[in-house]
Amino acid sequence: MAGRDKSAESDTIERDTWDLRSKGPKQCEAHWIPLQEGVAQIIYGLLEFDESYLSDRKDLFPNARSWVGGGCVTMDMDMAEVDFCLLCREAETVWEQVKRLLSTPLDG
Ligand SMILES: [Zn+2]
Repeated sequence: MAGRDKSAESDTIERDTWDLRSKGPKQCEAHWIPLQEGVAQIIYGLLEFDESYLSDRKDLFPNARSWVGGGCVTMDMDMAEVDFCLLCREAETVWEQVKRLLSTPLDG
């Protein structure tokens, strides 16, 4: 009796997403390339950030949108549709790696 899977319903799951895509022209103001459509995870609750993250983000990766803040009101969805810039996401990833390296104490 083993071996029956229930994957039949898995290809048309309709989940609500939060549509944050902009209607106007879509171009990254930092990299001058067209924005792509994609999804980002919605993060709920109070977000605490490094001040340097917020200020660097404005200049270096303004359209990364690897996540979006959902605020304190929990909606019935966890993904959002966004426009994002590929180069911004790469820049954000590099920024995080550098930050981690810099915050690691050099022992020995
Ligand atoms: Zn960009």
